[in-house]
Amino acid sequence: MPNRNKNVDPDQVRAAVDAVVAEMEVIESFGKLIDHIEGMSELEVNRFGVCVVTADGDVIEGGEASHPFPIQSISKVFALTMALEAHGDDVWKRVGREPSGDPFNSIIDLERKKGIPRNPFINAGALVIADMLLDREKPQHEDVAAFLADHIGANDFDVDPDVFDKEAKGGYTNRALANLAKSFDNLHHEVDDVMKLYVRQCAIALTCRQLALAGRYLMLSPSGRKKKISLQEAHRVRRINALMLTCGQYDGAGDFAYRVGLPAKSGVGGGILAVVPHVASIAVWSPGLDDNGNSLLGTIALERLSERLGWSVFGSVPQVGA
Ligand code: GLU
Repeated sequence: MPNRNKNVDPDQVRAAVDAVVAEMEVIESFGKLIDHIEGMSELEVNRFGVCVVTADGDVIEGGEASHPFPIQSISKVFALTMALEAHGDDVWKRVGREPSGDPFNSIIDLERKKGIPRNPFINAGALVIADMLLDREKPQHEDVAAFLADHIGANDFDVDPDVFDKEAKGGYTNRALANLAKSFDNLHHEVDDVMKLYVRQCAIALTCRQLALAGRYLMLSPSGRKKKISLQEAHRVRRINALMLTCGQYDGAGDFAYRVGLPAKSGVGGGILAVVPHVASIAVWSPGLDDNGNSLLGTIALERLSERLGWSVFGSVPQVGA
């Protein structure tokens, strides 16, 4: 791959990150905490962390960038990457590529579509992707964690046991989705095995720093031990970014594209991973969620950061203050 990195001035990023952290401190967030996940309710809604990793390798943190949180649905990006690596375009025989227009755990559309989930980032789609990961030669429940360790370059993170237990024991809607997909023959393994794999990937707890490091490959930069990425991988990543842009924010993807203009994936743990292709991987965390389940402060922070730095896939504009 030709080197397409656009040099970024780390001092400018530092100034933008510091400004955004200061702004988040004074916003009174009205975000809601997710209540079906153990351990989340004692957190204050307006806690905030951010980390930007540039294509040049600078790591710029702000706020509570070292606080681990369950990545939840953000794991769906990594699981999809693994499924595409293992199964190529066959993935699209079993999962669609369209925004859903329904909540992340909606079951209605799965019946309408005869067991083919609308995209890999809603829960039904992620369950079918988990089923595909079990098809690999060496099924390992640590798979997404192993992928992350490889891309972060370290395995100093854990699966949150409380989050895992609660979602493994409950998770009735997810189990219903898995059963419905199985009834349409779009789940090849046992529902319990698929659920275990899915719930485990959701319960992986990362800091903003670890998440931004894990996301480096999405900006089409080599990460972990890799020195360069292949053309095939670059094409794959471009398409994953397209899906993140159109389907990465539950039912708020249109608004997010309008306000932030970057491919991103959110999770109900309050994290968002955003990508500026060839430029930066950004992770933000704040547990208060908006009505669509996206981090309220996290979205505002990304909106302000992208505006200050002129970062958008829809064209760059002069930076604020430039
Ligand atoms: N584990 C969560 C669930 O399945 C993930 C939801 C999310 O982050 O979108 O309910």
